[in-house]
Amino acid sequence: MTLPVHTAPPIRPTAARTHLFNDRTVDDYRRAVAAGVDRVARRVAQASGPFSGVRPDRLAPLLDAIDLDRPLHDTTAALDELEEVYLRDAVFFHHPRYLAHLNCPVVIPALLGEAVLSAVNSSMDTWDQSAGGTLIERRLIDWTARRIGLGPAADGVFTSGGTQSNLHALLLAREEALAGAAPADRRLLLPRLRIVTSAAGHFSVQKAAKLLGLAPDAVVLVRTGPDRRMRPGAVRHEITRCRRAGLPVMAVVATAGTTDFGTIDPLAEIAEGCAGVWLHVDAAYGCGLLVSPTRRHLLDGIERADSVTVDYHKSFFQPVSSSAVLVRDRRTLRHATWHADYLNPARAVAQQIPNQVDKSLQTTRRFDALKLWLTLRVMGPDAVGELFDEVCDRAAQAWELVAADPRFEVLARSPLSTVVFRWRPTGHGPELADAANLHARAELAASGLAVVAGTRVDGRQYLKFTVLNPTTTRDDVAYVLDLIAEHAGRYAHTHADLTCPVG
Ligand SMILES: *Cc1c(COP(=O)(O)O)cnc(C)c1O
Repeated sequence: MTLPVHTAPPIRPTAARTHLFNDRTVDDYRRAVAAGVDRVARRVAQASGPFSGVRPDRLAPLLDAIDLDRPLHDTTAALDELEEVYLRDAVFFHHPRYLAHLNCPVVIPALLGEAVLSAVNSSMDTWDQSAGGTLIERRLIDWTARRIGLGPAADGVFTSGGTQSNLHALLLAREEALAGAAPADRRLLLPRLRIVTSAAGHFSVQKAAKLLGLAPDAVVLVRTGPDRRMRPGAVRHEITRCRRAGLPVMAVVATAGTTDFGTIDPLAEIAEGCAGVWLHVDAAYGCGLLVSPTRRHLLDGIERADSVTVDYHKSFFQPVSSSAVLVRDRRTLRHATWHADYLNPARAVAQQIPNQVDKSLQTTRRFDALKLWLTLRVMGPDAVGELFDEVCDRAAQAWELVAADPRFEVLARSPLSTVVFRWRPTGHGPELADAANLHARAELAASGLAVVAGTRVDGRQYLKFTVLNPTTTRDDVAYVLDLIAEHAGRYAHTHADLTCPVG
């Protein structure tokens, strides 16, 4: 007896397949990507300001009108549409009058890296999904650790950003603090653990504490002086105070480049004073100093950290995302290790197969390291450091310009590239000044001529320049100051009757 033969129906290629990137579609790939690159290039060439000033209520209806279930079936049409709903009104960080947040203009070798890494689409969790990508990432981690001076046992891993790097470092610190504790003791200890950090530190420390299951008051904020740096004596004092209260300090977090002020905590003295406690240095912003030909000394003491956060996407002129967490002792990374039989079995370790997922909080992960790799291979570290030096110089000039201008008051001078200042009206109270500064910031963004940031300091409303663009000139800064004074002055003039004059 013969069995019936089942023949599968012939597979007919569908139109959908023409969209797959493979050996048959390389020409389409070249054309599509080149068309996209061309649109961006044209926008950037045309941009007369950093922003169009568009408001969400004008843009949202355009997006709402798009039926995502009815495709355009045409790349050009999709790009035309994209111009309307995104590119025309994007916020452009390459523009010299974008002075707001910690966003940098990006270098071309890194954009090349971005194009390569997304097309090849390696995933950094395991060797068998990345091969050479894993080795490139490891070399860059070693290179960064050496620049920091973390010593021969250092290691680390790329992350999605400073927030994740801080969470990762604090997870390791927590596990080190709880090492050896029996489960019952862990439960008792966990709500007692404390993190000592600066009042000017990044809020991601608070978020990390929450995610790590610590108590709501686990983060002890050390007040800063007018220089916006933690005093080492105050750190020591808090550690002692916590210990006396039976609250073990699991980590001290020092900041090399505070987000609001660009100030750097005295790292060496803090390291001295917190010996025995895990020291994490959040250098998300200040890490550019690692390659600075003239300012590397500002990071002195960072080599004593147990862990360090670096954001290449802040001061290495890299596109988002590109960040890393580094540790002094690679053994501590085991706290993030989980072996899954299907992915990274424990036997792979014995076989010396490098699986980065063993060190990472993420599983599938972008090959962001490639951008930094091509940046270093094309430009070299000194050129990146020169760019960062230039923005620090430019910010120092801007600080002097504001300090010499009677229309403004200015706060702590940053060794990096931040200027925090406030328009100061004559004859009016601080409430009107608060409102006028807020108003000036909003008007400036709405005009699209410049984008600046704002923040509250000691209860008052301030404005902030974060200079990360070497092409920003002194004239750009002077022009923006004039615009701010004009908007704020007009506001104060028309609202003067709403608040009581001083005196
Ligand atoms: C920006 C910043 C962070 C957060 O980094 P992301 O990359 O935005 O997640 C953490 N710490 C400091 C000091 C920062 O400036």
